[in-house]
Amino acid sequence: MTAQATYEFKAEIKQLLDILVHSLYTEREIFLRELVSNASDALDKLRIINATSDAINAEAAGDDETPLEIRIETKKDGKLLAISDNGVGMTEAELVENIGTIAHSGSASFLKALKDSGAASADGIIGRFGVGFYSVYMVAEKVTITTRSYREDALPVEWTSDGQGSYTIRELTGDEAAGVVRGTSIEIALKDDLADQFTDAEGLRHIIRKHSNFIGFPILVDGTRANTVPALWREPKFQITKEQYKEFYSFLTYDADEPLDTLHLSVDAPVQFNALCFIPKKSKDFGGFDREDWGLDLYVRRVLIQRQNKDLIPQHLMFVRGVVDTEDLPLNISRETLQDNLLIRKINATLTKQVLAHLEKMAEDKASYAEFWREHARVFKAGYMDFGNREKFAGLLRFNSSSCESAEELVSLDDYISRAKVDQKKVYYAFGPSREALKLNPHLEIFRKKGVEVLFMFEPIDEFVMDALRKHKDFDLTPAEMAKPEDMAALPDVEPADSAEAQAAPEKDALDALFARVKDILGDGVTEVRASARLTGSPCCLVNPDGHTTSSMDKIMRAMSHDASVPKKVLELNPKHELIRNLADLNQADPADPFVEQAARQLFESALLLEGYLTDPHALVGRIQDLLAKSSGWYAKAR
Ligand code: ADP
Ligand code: MG
Repeated sequence: MTAQATYEFKAEIKQLLDILVHSLYTEREIFLRELVSNASDALDKLRIINATSDAINAEAAGDDETPLEIRIETKKDGKLLAISDNGVGMTEAELVENIGTIAHSGSASFLKALKDSGAASADGIIGRFGVGFYSVYMVAEKVTITTRSYREDALPVEWTSDGQGSYTIRELTGDEAAGVVRGTSIEIALKDDLADQFTDAEGLRHIIRKHSNFIGFPILVDGTRANTVPALWREPKFQITKEQYKEFYSFLTYDADEPLDTLHLSVDAPVQFNALCFIPKKSKDFGGFDREDWGLDLYVRRVLIQRQNKDLIPQHLMFVRGVVDTEDLPLNISRETLQDNLLIRKINATLTKQVLAHLEKMAEDKASYAEFWREHARVFKAGYMDFGNREKFAGLLRFNSSSCESAEELVSLDDYISRAKVDQKKVYYAFGPSREALKLNPHLEIFRKKGVEVLFMFEPIDEFVMDALRKHKDFDLTPAEMAKPEDMAALPDVEPADSAEAQAAPEKDALDALFARVKDILGDGVTEVRASARLTGSPCCLVNPDGHTTSSMDKIMRAMSHDASVPKKVLELNPKHELIRNLADLNQADPADPFVEQAARQLFESALLLEGYLTDPHALVGRIQDLLAKSSGWYAKAR
């Protein structure tokens, strides 16, 4: 074995630069974002130094009336693009250290020094990694930096490189130095094939607005300002007017209306981020969940990283529009890394809680919450899958119910529970095509009789919501069609018994015989024929055999598996109903009476029709016509 030795890595700078330039970024235009970010950092540093009263080179400052700004100038003929700032500038030593040293960030050092000195925080500073500058070589043939530091006695310096592994530096003196004021100017000799693209002022403004719109200093392209909207999310809430929020909202969404609600958050734990989010008044028409037009814009220290990031917010809150800005991510993070990022997941979890809390607050005002619900409920209901926030989610649900005066009225699970009957430990719900249909649904007759409220469900997703929640507070969520007869029997009647009910049911023997005969007639069409405890006004209804899913869920499943067969159900007959009593009498008198058969088939098929399962109405219609013909004859005679 040889003695241990330590070696330094060697680097072929030319190749390293090549990799850096060509694999760090996918879009060429990103170089502009990097240079603008650097200029913004230089201006921020100057501002901080000013504030901490470090001496500023008065001579270098030149005419210091000039506001802090970033200027971009184009020269189409010369294929030149220049980006200048009147920030801190660099000394010769700093040029070598910051630009001439790959992966050395002067900004990171600045922040560290600032922190060590216990001075003011500088949360605006963007740079951290010391590689952004080199992205300029995606578009540059050659770059010339002319810079003059804010420091006392600093002389102007010029740095040039073609990005092929070496650079030159020289101090400017005499005539060359004249007129070089504090700050940095980066002149780019553009590659031939890119010269047109990157000397087009309007195109450059567009790129600025895309990636650097919220930089805190004016960015002027050939004298015209490109960034116009302030990064409102980084400003203290109390300083922002309603109009500013609205302006920002319409900038973000192109919605001319004002937002229904605004959430402006500044969070420090468990992750640091600022967010400015809005709930629009109108839902975009998300017909199905495959629409891609949602997500929050992700910024890192005011610089756009990704538009419509879909990991920042769960899908059931896709109606929320806005921006998230975090200090804790690097600028050059790749989309792949973003997707599986713990930090992003933490932001998502925090935002979700905040949005739910906001909705809870909004719900205190029934009218505005109803407005929210009308537009966004369809999307929001998918939140039943968010088990971590189930309680809050359930509390935010709204339904129409049998107790509502109109279709617009909304009831929460808590409203329901607050007016439940003594001893009623269940929340009952029923599924139907409309409020009118549900009001006539035979399954709900017993609920009307007992004065028990039933929540109405109109959309398939409601079924999944109730199925997933199962409970709210200590109330079981129970489909009305599965209500236990003994539970219902225990509750007092509120409606006076009508004339039909006042009638006594037929003898048990006569009833049993009728049920057996009906079962015989219908054969395999039904699993069982039995007496009903849920009917008051109707003669019969179909119910699912015990332990089965609800009939609405059944329908959803069948639709999904393209199953067009008719499910086998229990036929319940109402023993107190006049028709059933008559049938029992007729059957007792003549067990082969053809009218009983005709009536049994008719009852069964009309029940199927109500449930939406009758595919061929011919037999039913024929029978109705036959019965009408007979009864009209009897009626005519009786008159
Ligand atoms: P980062 O911005 O992550 O630090 P860059 O490669 O973009 O990395 O820049 C490297 C360093 O060069 C910066 O940290 C800063 O010290 C210096 N620098 C770049 N552009 C300017 C500028 N316009 N004015 C002053 N210093 C600059
Ligand atoms: Mg940078």
